[in-house]
Amino acid sequence: MLNETGAIRKDPGGKLNLALVYPNTYWVGMSNLGFQTMYRLFNAHKGILCERFFTDCPRSVESGRALHDFHLIAFSLSYELDYPAALRMLLEKGIPVSSSTRKGCPIVMAGGAALSANPEPLAEALDLCFLGDGETLPDMLHEAFTKSTGYEEFLDRISLVPGVYLPARTSPVVEGEAIRGFTGPKPMLSLVDPLEDPARTAVMTPDTAFGDMYLVEAARGCPFQCRFCSAREMNSPYRSVPVDRLLPVFDEAAQLRSKVGLVSTSLNNHPQAAVIFEEMRKRGLKVAAPSLRPGTIGEDLLRALKDSRVAGVTLAPETGSEELRFALGKRIGNEVILEDVRALISSGIRDIKLYFMVGLPGEEIHDLDETVDLVKRIRQTFIHVSRGNRRIGTINVSINTMVPKPHTPFERQAMVEPGDAKARLSRIARALKSESNVTVSYEGPKWAYLQALLCRGDRNVFGLILEMARGEQGSWQRLMKDWPRNPDYYALRERPVGEILPWSFYRTGCT
Ligand code: SF4
Repeated sequence: MLNETGAIRKDPGGKLNLALVYPNTYWVGMSNLGFQTMYRLFNAHKGILCERFFTDCPRSVESGRALHDFHLIAFSLSYELDYPAALRMLLEKGIPVSSSTRKGCPIVMAGGAALSANPEPLAEALDLCFLGDGETLPDMLHEAFTKSTGYEEFLDRISLVPGVYLPARTSPVVEGEAIRGFTGPKPMLSLVDPLEDPARTAVMTPDTAFGDMYLVEAARGCPFQCRFCSAREMNSPYRSVPVDRLLPVFDEAAQLRSKVGLVSTSLNNHPQAAVIFEEMRKRGLKVAAPSLRPGTIGEDLLRALKDSRVAGVTLAPETGSEELRFALGKRIGNEVILEDVRALISSGIRDIKLYFMVGLPGEEIHDLDETVDLVKRIRQTFIHVSRGNRRIGTINVSINTMVPKPHTPFERQAMVEPGDAKARLSRIARALKSESNVTVSYEGPKWAYLQALLCRGDRNVFGLILEMARGEQGSWQRLMKDWPRNPDYYALRERPVGEILPWSFYRTGCT
């Protein structure tokens, strides 16, 4: 029995039975606020029963029923590397992976951040995709399902819902490798504004990355304009949750946990941030360690962090080169970052995590060295200010390879090839190796390459995902090499202006 409270169990009779699947472990899935929110919203509809599945819970958490016992299977896809596991879960239950073979028995759909950015690699498998904010989905889905007498009628009805994309009815027109255009209706992203029902933890469990806290979404979207950032593009415009909507959630949270994780791309940009911190303080709630945007860390936030005895925070300078950072759209100077570090350590923060990237457009060797220099300067400031504290903490430097994401201003950029990325990552890691109180970690660039292949791909990539679903993770590199298509064509290549991109048949809320 899982160690959780808040699971919802319903009688399946007379209801739309929906399997909500996170194709990763219980730990990863239950750490995802979007997944938790959809579980709550589906079950809030009296005509829907929603039960959860994970790769390590292949039968429903709530009732132990099998995937094929449900009318509808809804995958939550936040990360491209989960795609093979999603198909594997269908294969293991003997459910046809192709929508044209299944013909709606059961209906298979997907939503989530990765899928909303480019559903095409999984188009063949999905009867319907839901792009954007999911809050409106339960009502629409239930109505279309209960009023329809057959699969095609269901598709007719659901096709009218904003956010719905039916891959069988909208297709690319292909000539050789090139896309010449698209036939069929063009979907639009679902957008909820204002955010009246804040996304929040539905099921409490210690078996997640956030087991000691209650998560609440304070804002969606981002007021800034980093040109590599998919989160901003897919969630525009920036919308803050009004305080009067957060207060009842804080009351609920105070019954369950002493700490609240306020989910927002830039906490300090909430127009009522000071009131939020004060209301949390009145309820005895601590603010959990957030990710902060440099240059926006004000007095109210510092006080809240201090009162909550937050031990560590995350900052993302992205690069040590001011020129490159400005070119990314993150117009923050190194002195501002150093000033933030000073203020944070003075407020009692002990540990700082720093996110950097390599493979940025125009990046030269001296830019990598500037990243090393910035970390060293941050360390000096950190050590200097920490001397007043009882214990000197750690600076964790995490470096990723930049993936040019669909729908961002960088979507046509070439991606640095894995060998080159590895050399850049190693150069930074080597240069920081002997710095005390600094640790450096990075994910192998082969994973960034695979992510790029899956997120920048078209419908042809489906065959590779299916092979990966049939094989073990250890065989993925070999499967990529054996694939009759050239994976570099999708992952690495610069897309010239004029080339029609696989995901260009719909637009995000960004201008
Ligand atoms: S501040 Fe963060 S969330 Fe906002 S656009 Fe930049 S990277 Fe994206």
